[in-house]
Amino acid sequence: MRKIISKSAFFRSIQWRLVLILMLTTFVLMSVVWVFLNARVENIFYEDFKTNIETNYEALGINQENTDFQKLLKELKENALIAGFIHGPDKSYTIIDKSTAEILYSSDELYQTDKIQFRNGIFKSENLLYVLSQDDPEAVGNRQKYTKSERGDFYDYVKIQRLKDGEYVLFFKYSRERALDVLNDFSNAILVSTVISLFAAVIIGSVLSRTITLPINDIMHRAKKITDGDFGYALDVKSDDEVGMLTRTFNFMSSRLKSMLTEITSEKKKLETILNYMTDGIIAYNRTGEVILTNPAAEKLLKSKAADIVSFDEFMSTLGIKLNMGSIISDNKIIEPLHKVQYKDKYIKIHLAIFTDENNQTDGIIAVLQDITEEHKLDIMRKEFVANVSHELRTPLTSVKSYTETLLDGALQDKATAEQFLGVINEETDRMTRLVKDLLTLSQHDGGIKLNFEDISISDLVGSCADRMKREAKLKNQELKVRIKQGIPIIQGDRYRIDQLIINIISNAIKYTPEKGRITVQAHCDKEFVIISVEDNGIGIPAPDLDRIFERFYRVDKARSRQMGGTGLGLAIAKEIAVLHGGNITVKSKPGKGTHISIFLPVRKPHQQAL
Ligand code: ADP
Repeated sequence: MRKIISKSAFFRSIQWRLVLILMLTTFVLMSVVWVFLNARVENIFYEDFKTNIETNYEALGINQENTDFQKLLKELKENALIAGFIHGPDKSYTIIDKSTAEILYSSDELYQTDKIQFRNGIFKSENLLYVLSQDDPEAVGNRQKYTKSERGDFYDYVKIQRLKDGEYVLFFKYSRERALDVLNDFSNAILVSTVISLFAAVIIGSVLSRTITLPINDIMHRAKKITDGDFGYALDVKSDDEVGMLTRTFNFMSSRLKSMLTEITSEKKKLETILNYMTDGIIAYNRTGEVILTNPAAEKLLKSKAADIVSFDEFMSTLGIKLNMGSIISDNKIIEPLHKVQYKDKYIKIHLAIFTDENNQTDGIIAVLQDITEEHKLDIMRKEFVANVSHELRTPLTSVKSYTETLLDGALQDKATAEQFLGVINEETDRMTRLVKDLLTLSQHDGGIKLNFEDISISDLVGSCADRMKREAKLKNQELKVRIKQGIPIIQGDRYRIDQLIINIISNAIKYTPEKGRITVQAHCDKEFVIISVEDNGIGIPAPDLDRIFERFYRVDKARSRQMGGTGLGLAIAKEIAVLHGGNITVKSKPGKGTHISIFLPVRKPHQQAL
């Protein structure tokens, strides 16, 4: 669809200017022709008039010796009528006395009717005045081509004639009317030609200029489309001239631009993908400290949307880092680029780097954020673990050491005491052995143990575990009931570890249930899991501790646990075994009322489940 060009836009267009140039050129050309023709016509008329007089007057053979005024008049009258060169409807001759400037005779019609007006008319002639003022008999008045007069303009030719009876001035007059008629005809013809030429100039100019403006318009429209990102097709090169070259260059430029843009877009997309999928958070700030870019990892880490991420200085002060954009820009470097800080509930490692402009001056900052919360927790756990292990080993070692020293100091002699002391040493050694065994189990888990999967009948396994624990329960006069539902499927699992898991849970129930307590071990199943639950009516676990009892070395009551021979690792091991099998352990408890622990083991083998 062609756009309608506004009036002012049209008059600013190249097309209009070219038409205007052509019109002006035509106009100037026609004007010059007109002026030139005018001058030529005027000249032809005057020259013709003058030459005619000069030649014909010469032929009369008038001179001072043979002619007086009367003879001259007679000659002129006679010859003028014959030759017609000095007299006619538009021509006349006049004889003036040079000394008095008195008109002696004139063949002019006006002279016959109004002598004064005639005299006034011819005395406007510069030629006449000039000749009257001259003494030289050869003087000729031809200085001015024509004289303006109220009764019509006229050409005039003036000469001096010395005769026997005095000096006379001959004034030849030729009306300019005919010349003006011819000039008018010429002017009209030229005016018509000018109008036609101007009209032709408009048409030719528009057609010609379109050959220039059309390709330029095409280029302009394509350039506009390119600005909107639409590269489309290449323009047709219609000529081999400058416009054709321009179109070709434009096509080349547009294809280069397109390929460069494609390259930049693909680079940008690559960068965006990297930024979107990298696990480290990235925040870029400009030199005023405003956020110019963030990636999803940064938003997730800071738990805020891109728009809510604050300025650099604000962010640094929130993190307690003594840095601000002003000082970084003035230093042009970051003296301490690496920081480990706490932000809300996260631990963050933050690495700051500056990016520079073309003059190598700081143009902004990129902050790379790494979530080291897990690392930090593990670090703390590792430290706690080492402290816990040392502590757990120190207590039995101290007592073994002190009992051994007492024995060496002489208690060995007293057999009863010695036996009692050796019993304690044995118990403490057992505890250390248990602890080391548990630690070994955990370290195996941490190292990634391989489970020996085999078919297990949970009904049988639970029955066997309960049987083995019955003796211990009996020692505390506890009632240990076993209820196993029919139809529990055979599951895949590591028999040794599931056995260890069930024993741990039942033994805890016995440990933390007072004498004469009641413990119920049940097994049933649903679609997905076989569920083994161990319920007791023992001391129970306070609500705040419920979440933590599966942590390594976590004990609700340390003294009681130790007294019971506990290591604080039993539930941690149990949970890890359940999780390794694709299951879980949950706990419900009320202090003083009892505890209910449920073990969930998947009916299908964990990796089969994943399929
Ligand atoms: P421990 O070797 O101390 O028994 P566990 O990891 O087996 O260590 O248990 C962790 C803690 O959980 C115990 O110290 C105890 O306080 C609590 N606990 C575990 N089972 C029971 C239960 N059945 N009744 C009450 N408290 C329990």
